[in-house]
Parts: sequence; C-alpha cells; structure tokens
Amino acid sequence: MLRLSQGQLNLLEACPRKFQHTYIDQLGFPTALEYQEQINWGNQFHLLMQQRELGLPIASTSRSDPLQQSVAAFIQAAPEIFQTPPDTFRQSEHSRSLEFQGYLLTVIYDLLIMDDRQAQILDWKTYPRPQQTRWLKQNWQTRLYPFVLAETSDYPPEQISMTYWFVRGQPDRPTQPERITYAYGPQQHQQTQQDLAHLLNQLTHWLDRYEQGEAFPQVGRSSGNCETCSFAVRCQRVDWETPIASFPDLATIEEVTL
Ligand code: SF4
Repeated sequence: MLRLSQGQLNLLEACPRKFQHTYIDQLGFPTALEYQEQINWGNQFHLLMQQRELGLPIASTSRSDPLQQSVAAFIQAAPEIFQTPPDTFRQSEHSRSLEFQGYLLTVIYDLLIMDDRQAQILDWKTYPRPQQTRWLKQNWQTRLYPFVLAETSDYPPEQISMTYWFVRGQPDRPTQPERITYAYGPQQHQQTQQDLAHLLNQLTHWLDRYEQGEAFPQVGRSSGNCETCSFAVRCQRVDWETPIASFPDLATIEEVTL
C-alpha cells in the first residue's frame, strides 16, 4: 500500500508531474548548502525538544548558542505547553496512520497533548512566521493532521486543534516565538474528506495511466511553479541557458523524522 504524507499531498496538488519525478521516478536534486544548514538547524531543534519531552538532559551546548537560546525562548513563551496537569496524555513525535481509499495516510505530530476536553496537535516550524498565512490554512498538513486524529481517536472534530509554533519568531525578533492556531470542526472534517477523496481518485487514475506509459499531468505555466522547479528543463519550461532559482518549497517540506 502506498504511504502518503502531508508533504506528498502538497506536492501532488501543486504539480502531479513533480510528484511523479520526485516520488515515483525518484529523481532527486542535491539541496543547496544554505538550505541544508536550515534543515540541519530544524532537525537539531526537533531533537532537543524530543529529548526534553523524554526527560533527558539537553546537550550541554553553550547558553549563547542560538539553538539553545531558541529552545529557552520557546519554553518561556509557551509555558502552558510544558506545564500540563499530571493526568494529561502527551507524546512527542507521535505517529499515526489511516487507511483511506487504498492509501496509507501517515502523520507525525511534533507534540500531541490530550486531556478529557481537547486534543492539541503542535508543530514546530523553524523558519520565520510567514507574512501571508492563507496558504498555511490550505496546506495539507493543516488539513490532514486533525483529520487523521479525528478518524483514529474518540475526539470529535470540534475538540481538536492544530497549532504551529514559529520558534524563530521574526528576523527582527528572533527570541519571540509566534504561534498560529487553527480550530477544527465537523465542516472542516467533511471538506477535508471530500478533498482527499478527490485528490486520491486522481492519483489512482494517474498511476493507472503511468503504468501504461503516460506521464502525470504538468501544472499550467501560469501557476508560476515552474520558474523555481528543479525539473523545469526536463519539462521544457525553460531552456538550458536559463538559471533556475531552485529552493525548497515550504509547503512541501517533509516532517522531521527522528
Ligand atoms: S517544471 Fe513545472 S510542470 Fe514540470 S515538474 Fe516542475 S512544476 Fe511541474
């Protein structure tokens, strides 16, 4: 059974051909050094948070270390996350799977906090809070994470929420983490179910055609996605001489797996 994460759903929705090249053809591109450093920073932050959740000592890095400062600033900014009542269930790197239309939808919550009234899904973002957040609301992570929890637990949708913590704040306020919370509800749940069913029906169709030698569809030129895509030359959307400003798409970045 094909496993699908939120990052894969985002990519599939953004451009089916890019999904094909990335996950089916497995045509990878090396990540630019500057972005690799950001990814490493994010991985280390997630690791420190998990260590803390497990009650393990956090590595004895210097207090002047930016990573250590970010962890300390985050703990100070969000005490409610770290001081929950004793009968509260909490687990970091909590993973769940849901079988849906022949696919295995997988999620990993950075932290899941559940009590008798509500279930909170928390996610650490290690890039600055975006100015425009409409795309985040529509991002598959925001839709899929509560959906899977509602389908695999006793919590009704209205008792579930999804919170992103931008642990690095803004570039001019790096020690002030910011958060965005999305409440969930029956309407969102129903809409997500419909959107998922539609997208996965399309995927099944494209996979069938692919087995018969037909490539997944390309996104329209007017989408603007091709200008920064690593496959722009392969797709004949730019010529060989045009430099491609390739960078990771925040909407499709995978969850950190520790
Ligand atoms: S160049 Fe455009 S059509 Fe081709 S994979 Fe990238 S986004 Fe899709």
